[in-house]
Amino acid sequence: MTTASPILGFLDDSNIQYAMQHVGVAGTWRWPGATVPVWIRRPSLQYAHEAQLVRQAIQEINRRLTGRIELQETPRIGLTSCIAVSFGTAYRPEELRAETDCRKLWGYRANVSNAIGACDRVIPDEHGHPECLVTWLNIGIGQDNPCKVDLDIVLHEFGHALGLAEHFEGFGLQSGAISEDFWDVLATLYNDRPLTPLAAIRPAKAAP
Ligand SMILES: [Zn+2]
Repeated sequence: MTTASPILGFLDDSNIQYAMQHVGVAGTWRWPGATVPVWIRRPSLQYAHEAQLVRQAIQEINRRLTGRIELQETPRIGLTSCIAVSFGTAYRPEELRAETDCRKLWGYRANVSNAIGACDRVIPDEHGHPECLVTWLNIGIGQDNPCKVDLDIVLHEFGHALGLAEHFEGFGLQSGAISEDFWDVLATLYNDRPLTPLAAIRPAKAAP
């Protein structure tokens, strides 16, 4: 990318190239329409705080992406496509099933998948929408929640659920869970319709 803004390069790497590699779709993929239903599973007591973080994250996303996309909590699951939030169901590889040392579980505190407790990645369909009816956002490890998440981790996972498939500098990697660039990439993605080709996209700024 030779643009002054790295945003288009990040969007290309994280979203557009991913769609091309996985389903041969040329352009962006994202949730259709102006709203995304979010179903939040009733948390156990151990996850009451995390459920609060999820609602806080929804408010923050709606503020930063105002006019582009709005997450709306829904009391029902399965009628229309939605993001479903589940607690204690983050994916863990087999060899870490009995692990309780938080340092070893650090990278497995939360994940996004097309199934609960699984690590199958969400991919787009030919219309540039998430392929499955439900995109699962799994938060926290096991019933006892030994390894806590924070708001930035929850926002990071929503970023994955909204179409940022791959990490970039400012979204995971060594640069922290999220950054200002993370918000601008999301704002740019949700500025245009699904399947918008890279050449037609102008970088946007998230609301401050
Ligand atoms: Zn991630």
